[in-house]
Amino acid sequence: MSDLLIRGGNLLHSAHHATLVRSDILVREGVIVAIGNDLPAAADVLDLDGDIVIPGLINAHLHSPGNFMRGTLENLPLEVFMLYEVPPLADGAEDPATVRLRTQIGAAEMLKLGITTLMDDAFFVPLTSQSSIDAIAEAYADIGIRATVALDQPIVPEYEKYPFLRDLLPTQVIERMDTSPRETAKGMLAHYDHLISRWHGAADGRLAAAVSCSAPQRATPAYLQALHGLAVRHDLPYFCHMLETKVQRVLGEEKYGQSLIQYADSLGILDEQMQVIHAIWVDEADIATLARSGAVVAHNPVCNLRLGSGVMPFRQLRDAGVPICLGTDEAVSDDSHNLWGAIKTAAVVHAASGSDYRTWPTGAEILEAVWDGGNRVMRRDRPLGRIEVGAHADFAILDGKADTFRPLHDIRRALVFSESGSSVRHTVVAGRVVVRDGELTTIDEAAMLAALRDLEPTLRQDAVALRESAAALEPFYRQMVMMAAERDVGFSRWVGR
Ligand SMILES: [Zn+2]
Repeated sequence: MSDLLIRGGNLLHSAHHATLVRSDILVREGVIVAIGNDLPAAADVLDLDGDIVIPGLINAHLHSPGNFMRGTLENLPLEVFMLYEVPPLADGAEDPATVRLRTQIGAAEMLKLGITTLMDDAFFVPLTSQSSIDAIAEAYADIGIRATVALDQPIVPEYEKYPFLRDLLPTQVIERMDTSPRETAKGMLAHYDHLISRWHGAADGRLAAAVSCSAPQRATPAYLQALHGLAVRHDLPYFCHMLETKVQRVLGEEKYGQSLIQYADSLGILDEQMQVIHAIWVDEADIATLARSGAVVAHNPVCNLRLGSGVMPFRQLRDAGVPICLGTDEAVSDDSHNLWGAIKTAAVVHAASGSDYRTWPTGAEILEAVWDGGNRVMRRDRPLGRIEVGAHADFAILDGKADTFRPLHDIRRALVFSESGSSVRHTVVAGRVVVRDGELTTIDEAAMLAALRDLEPTLRQDAVALRESAAALEPFYRQMVMMAAERDVGFSRWVGR
């Protein structure tokens, strides 16, 4: 790949810089090799005329398999929502071409918004397959985004993931859940062998593998520890949803006699490689345990509001020294991949926590979560989320004349509170201009859209079928959610009541 000179931009070097600096950037082999003025010309030049160059955004948590479900659901609590997202009685097999298109749709949206890096906690309904793994990874490789992919697949029967449910469900439903297709630990470890050997470090290092248990209650202790072993051996992030909802808090009490954070810690899997996703219903002891472990918490504020999960204790976690990264979670629970929306929501939602406004997050803290938290959880060979010599050359380039900057007082507050993603003009990943003047340079977007339009009748039919299958189970799940809601767990993460 030839050198790239980005000329005439105003740079925000990192979340820790308060002002823009007029500088050029020289990129070689995907890495920043020089920053300054009067840099030598390169084979490729991107002339900016005062546009604003920031580190590419890192979307640190999402599930691409939800991409086709955008806008299908009203607000629902997580446990009912998951009847649609991952139907527990599903069978059949996924079509790799459909998986590929589904993945590409989300990646295209993200690149056009200046999101250069993502962590995809991909699930498979009902079973994981090598062809689906390849379809996801190929989609990211081809479109030019930086991606870390894990396999989020439960291996226990549905009713074991929840409190009360086994007693609430009719016997025939239990029997169907027992016989529905389900992965095993052995099968999943074989899929991880494939993911790691085929895709970890592929596409010039843009692609990487992570491991995922989905959540502790969706796995067995032996599988949780086997994944930890893989993470340690290959230095991979380890994704784990924990204490997203009050139901999960109650599940910990009912099933493990302790919170899910303490349970994970007791198994020896909670360490600095773990990404603890959500961490809403954590108590003080959990926050102390998280801080000691070095784990990174993924904050997904729009999803958390949409599913009524509650509000993550941002200030308590941060004061304890827990690193935080930011994600959109899912196109069916956000309902977009627009990290800018999550950024603004993260910046404002914690003002609902109380009147001491000195504890509310600042714009700089939110950008730190996006760039530093994202960088930390990604575990890549070079820094992400900052513009410095030796870092990966990933940039979002924003139109300096856009509404967001009329006028420009403070660049960080402008980005956090004003920007929606509409100012993004160009996106650079690993030194390659993958979006130029709002257009993807790596794939034929019109062809992608045409394929999606062809598929839409099927997607709508699938959504109707899903509603019917979910409706049969919903009363039992609703009762479980209500039973957990009534339990006194000693604190609350809901606000405004
Ligand atoms: Zn998630």
